[in-house]
Amino acid sequence: MSSPIDSPYLVPLDGGLKIKALTSQPPDDVPGKKRCKKNLAEEIDYLDELQRRLYAEDRRALLIIFQAMDAAGKDSTIRAVMTGIDPSGCQVFSFKQPSKLELDHDFLWRTTRALPERGRIGIFNRSYYEETLVVRVHPEYLESQRINLPPELNDLWQQRFASIRQFEQHLALNGTVILKFWLNVSKEEQRMRFLSRLNEAHKHWKFSIKDVEERAHWDDYMKAYHETLAATSKPWAPWYAIPADNKPYMRWQVAKIIRKTLQSMAPQYPQVDKDELQQFNQMRHLLEHETSSS
Ligand code: ATP
Ligand code: MG
Repeated sequence: MSSPIDSPYLVPLDGGLKIKALTSQPPDDVPGKKRCKKNLAEEIDYLDELQRRLYAEDRRALLIIFQAMDAAGKDSTIRAVMTGIDPSGCQVFSFKQPSKLELDHDFLWRTTRALPERGRIGIFNRSYYEETLVVRVHPEYLESQRINLPPELNDLWQQRFASIRQFEQHLALNGTVILKFWLNVSKEEQRMRFLSRLNEAHKHWKFSIKDVEERAHWDDYMKAYHETLAATSKPWAPWYAIPADNKPYMRWQVAKIIRKTLQSMAPQYPQVDKDELQQFNQMRHLLEHETSSS
């Protein structure tokens, strides 16, 4: 199993998270927009080579999960990271409100079907974590899940945390490296981004009344995030809480953590054995001496 990489944004692995310690702001010495973009491009170049190796090695997978409040920049961050990855080696899945079929199964079913194969990178835009976030903020959603609830609802969230920890540990033991990002946007920055969606015609399509309604539950969401991150940041599946009020900085930091994680996995091109090498030499000989009539 790989270990989390060192980062100021790594959420403590012992449950001792203080949500106030997490910031939505970049550090004071944050480079300018141009420099952040250049740094991001450098990280993406690295990613490209590492992803080829992961694909060729074909023994492990990388699962990257994104969770965030609306307008934090999940989509654009995923797009930025994807530009550096061969599309055949990477798949993105977005999880919205569950369908009737999905509601007929346990809460890990729909995401399990979308897990990356060996050699691939899988990106989840939202995930089973919605089950301890949006569903916790709106427990009325549980009705459509048709499960037997424990007498104390709080026990349900604790059971889900335990299921998630065990599930992720199982994946990690079986060759899937897991990375989880919470893009931490502030309430004020979200307000500004919603306003710019309303004020600029080319952004109207991004505006959703539902997003503003959810904003009214901000404190409940923060509480749910706090408990979720604290309960599920583990050595085999760490959370990184990335400041999201400055988008160029955020994208660079996400790419850096992905690159460092892949680097620590050190994927290797497979070596051919002696017999294969001998066959290759014969093939080379044949090809070198091939004439147009043969
Ligand atoms: P974008 O707005 O950028 O297209 P999005 O991920 O916000 O992307 P929406 O269709 O706006 O997509 O919202 C999806 C909604 O589905 C979110 O409000 C999310 O909380 C909700 N959702 C996701 N999973 C579940 C779940 N298991 N149960 C209930 N709601 C869920
Ligand atoms: Mg949305």
